[in-house]
Amino acid sequence: MRDNSARWLAPGDPESISVALATRFSQVYNYDPEGVWFAPGRANLNGEHIDFHGGRCLPMALRHGTYVAAAPRTDGVLRLRTLDPSLDSGIVEIHDAAAQPTPAGTPSWTTYVSGVLWALAQLKDEHPEIELHRGTGADLLIRSTLPIGGGLSSSASLECAAALAFVAIGTPLGAENHGDDLTRALTDSLRAVLAQVCVKAEVEAVGAGTGGLDQTTSLRAAEGKLVSLDCRDFTVKRTDIAFLLRDYRFLAVDTGHPHQLADGRFSARRAEAEAAASALGVNRLRDALPEKPKKSDVELTLDEFDRALEAGADLGGLDAGSCRRRLKHALTEMLRSEKIHRILNGDAHGVDNTADLVGDLMSAGHASMKENAEVSFALADQVVDTVVQAGASGARLIGGGFGGSVLVLVPRSRMEDITSAASRLSPDVRFLEVVPSPAARAV
Ligand code: ADP
Ligand code: MG
Repeated sequence: MRDNSARWLAPGDPESISVALATRFSQVYNYDPEGVWFAPGRANLNGEHIDFHGGRCLPMALRHGTYVAAAPRTDGVLRLRTLDPSLDSGIVEIHDAAAQPTPAGTPSWTTYVSGVLWALAQLKDEHPEIELHRGTGADLLIRSTLPIGGGLSSSASLECAAALAFVAIGTPLGAENHGDDLTRALTDSLRAVLAQVCVKAEVEAVGAGTGGLDQTTSLRAAEGKLVSLDCRDFTVKRTDIAFLLRDYRFLAVDTGHPHQLADGRFSARRAEAEAAASALGVNRLRDALPEKPKKSDVELTLDEFDRALEAGADLGGLDAGSCRRRLKHALTEMLRSEKIHRILNGDAHGVDNTADLVGDLMSAGHASMKENAEVSFALADQVVDTVVQAGASGARLIGGGFGGSVLVLVPRSRMEDITSAASRLSPDVRFLEVVPSPAARAV
């Protein structure tokens, strides 16, 4: 008989993980680290594939994330090791990483870290307090409690934990502040700068089409809060959702199908949406909608796109139907974000009513990921259908797609029914409790 008991991925206790990682560092490098830094992964309630179009995203940080134990070097050398069994190949050494983050022959995962050192060095004297000392290198040991490639942003959490470690061991701010003091000294505006550093690393060094949602969440989220992130200017509003979490919980279902954002399919979807934007004569699709968009504005913009095509607009050789579907996803996703933002920040609807409204918008978001963005896959669709049948308020694929996780809004009383129904779908399905958690910090 197959074991249908739910498999949970625990976040672990940060202090114990930190102590164990520091001990392991001493064994690997034969001396003690200067500290351990942690940055969380994230779950996005709504707003997939729209951060790079200036849309609103609604993420929260997880308890799960990436821990980095580090010690400084003054010879510009970066030595890295990950404890993830599928990626670990011992210590990897990169010379002069601040100048050249991607030397030939290094495993691709290392660029997520060396790219951050490089991007931080590019800041030069723009932000003197986080300007790297000359010749800064480091020894790093990495451990994640997230599924890797699971749509919960292990990549950004690795970048952000590394960024904190580099600031701590290689800048004036780090020299003056240790441990919790450094966590406090990193103001929201400095965290916003670091988020852009990490975006630059992932876009320019790694070559993945990330838009800043993941890095902003990891560095700027808050405990108990949903982050309402306006990606036009990266301003955030942190919304208390304790009232909702009294009777409901968010659950992430990791399908066990990892994706690889850097492999081009995500970038192809992005290119099609960008072609639609240029046919509409806007730089980013958020600008095609008014400040307070309504459903009719989405229809009007789609009509405008059709007229632009009839008038001979150039899509750079991309398929018109695909570009239109990406456009429809982006516009409706922006509308859903604005609606959820209003529901959670506006008039009280009562907990159950709020959960129903948000849950319906989540399920509508999944349908759009499937039909318009075309980034879903069979197991994600099955998880969504199954958990909704088992009593979830709503569910949707999150992350870039082509693999990854489904976020579910669950009435507390239905948790067991829902996890056992989803467990039956595949032996690879695992669950993570999504508890809105604090941003990146020293541990
Ligand atoms: P996601 O961010 O959704 O988990 P991505 O494809 O964006 O998926 O990022 C996954 C990649 O990030 C991995 O393939 C690896 O290169 C890198 N990565 C993430 N976590 C770790 C880790 N703990 N150790 C080494 N590399 C990691
Ligand atoms: Mg990622």
